[in-house]
Amino acid sequence: MEAIAYERATDIAAAVHAAREPGVAFIGGGTNLLDLMKGGVERPSKLVDITHLHDDGLDTVRALPDGGIRIGSLMRNSDAANHPLVRERYPLLTQALLAGASAQLRNMATVGGNLMQRTRCPYFYDTAFAGCNKRTPGSGCSAVHGYHRTHAIFGASEACIAVNPSDMSVALAALDATVQVAGPGGTRGIPIGEFHRLPGDRPDLDTTLQSAELITAVDLPPSTLSSLSTYLKIRDRASYAFALVSVAVALHMQGDNIEAIHIALGGVAHKPWRATIAEGLLTGQPLDNKTLQDAAAAQMRDAHPLRDNRYKVTLAERAIVRAVNVAAGRERLGVTGEPA
Ligand code: SF4
Repeated sequence: MEAIAYERATDIAAAVHAAREPGVAFIGGGTNLLDLMKGGVERPSKLVDITHLHDDGLDTVRALPDGGIRIGSLMRNSDAANHPLVRERYPLLTQALLAGASAQLRNMATVGGNLMQRTRCPYFYDTAFAGCNKRTPGSGCSAVHGYHRTHAIFGASEACIAVNPSDMSVALAALDATVQVAGPGGTRGIPIGEFHRLPGDRPDLDTTLQSAELITAVDLPPSTLSSLSTYLKIRDRASYAFALVSVAVALHMQGDNIEAIHIALGGVAHKPWRATIAEGLLTGQPLDNKTLQDAAAAQMRDAHPLRDNRYKVTLAERAIVRAVNVAAGRERLGVTGEPA
């Protein structure tokens, strides 16, 4: 048994101060961190409990003067998904949040914790396997020549081929969110595209957060892309499973033409992956099947699959086509994700 110090923070400044020493972890919902601690994967020297912070706005959603919204980092996933401002202005985010985990977990997990959840690579979770650069830097990667059916096809490195498991983060990437943080140096906003890292030679680092920085909120900008949107999640079973591939789409149509489109992919990289090639080929074009299929195919030509995850290239290509059609109202999905 290992001793762990515990401190209940009373405000953001106290939480940041308490986290200044190395080896400290913030704990909110704890739905991922406690699993990792039980398995011996995470071994913090101290837990700073942020669940009782009373700073204004940490557990609320509020409208911003520019027409966007700010979601407090301590909002439970289920409360964020069902908040009227989120449902009305950003239904894509509601869909993505409700596609994640189980109802019980969504009632416990926080928005900040969702951003911080770690990969579900089985070698990372099982300490019986020695080789995992993310868990033990320099120990190798068991997945490269082992089980990698669920692993990355974009942006991987020799050191790590894991994927980010968050559904919420994929929607946030399509919506151009900004992650607000507070730390020893003050506050700052991190664009969602810069919040999660690619593995490179430091796969132990999932995000660009600095030491003792605490996520305080997620800002969503006002957007004309919010009304036509969808989140399509493809997984091995219909519930309580992580995405093999997911697609978040938000678009704005002018007649039959796509005036603007954002597409983000989940389950394919160490971070939510913006499909910028497809976005560029679709913007300003009429929405027809050939244009859409060509754009999706061009996007996936950039993929670098391994032996057992080549299926993701075709799966993602078809998922992009289906998700754009659904968002534009050209196709409907049933409860299983199949065409209705
Ligand atoms: Fe570890 Fe990453 Fe390799 Fe999985 S893919 S075994 S998380 S280094």
